[in-house]
Amino acid sequence: MHKILIVEDEPDIAELIAFNLDRAGYATVIAHDGISGLDLALAEGPDLILLDLMLPGKDGFSVFKDIRRDSRTNRTPVIMLTARAQTEDRIQGLEAGADDYLTKPFSPKELILRVQSVLRRSEAVPGSARFEYGPLLFEKNTLKFFLSNEELDLTATEFKLLLYLSERAGTPQSRHDLLRHVWGYSDAVNSRTLDTHMKRLRRKLGDQAGMVETMRGVGYRLRELT
Ligand code: CA
Repeated sequence: MHKILIVEDEPDIAELIAFNLDRAGYATVIAHDGISGLDLALAEGPDLILLDLMLPGKDGFSVFKDIRRDSRTNRTPVIMLTARAQTEDRIQGLEAGADDYLTKPFSPKELILRVQSVLRRSEAVPGSARFEYGPLLFEKNTLKFFLSNEELDLTATEFKLLLYLSERAGTPQSRHDLLRHVWGYSDAVNSRTLDTHMKRLRRKLGDQAGMVETMRGVGYRLRELT
């Protein structure tokens, strides 16, 4: 059973989320502020974290940074919860490496779909045991990517994107396919999400950033730099 940590200061919302997740077969843990949220994340090792951004004391962004900094939680998928008006927060959240976001108020159905989709892409690891493409190496038994023998520190989404692209290296992948396979849904609204994650992935590839090539009007492909 997957365990989900809910970090939300409004008790009614936290209870409602927990109720719907319990009903869908997930185990839940609730924290009502940022500090206990971080403590529970480290102590409980949840499979996924739902993180409200507006929290008393330690805000969601600083909790998120600490979650990503600790080796016990740096690969745990995080869905940020934002208020409708806070578009900037959403963009900032995705740029910081959140796996997805939910805008309040959201329906129970939307909640479950996002949770399922994020869990699915954080766990699915198809394909071969180990492959090399240029300076890039993937080891299936450790689920790690190495670039010029240095381990890449990737979020769950960046990992899934790079895995998808590297299994199809050299071949352009459409935005639609990337959204569908990596996020589990396709929606023009989420195009921005794809570009944001690609930008972050490129940053982590450093001087090999050009390996992720933008195919204008099509999507992206992974290529070897010459
Ligand atoms: Ca709040």
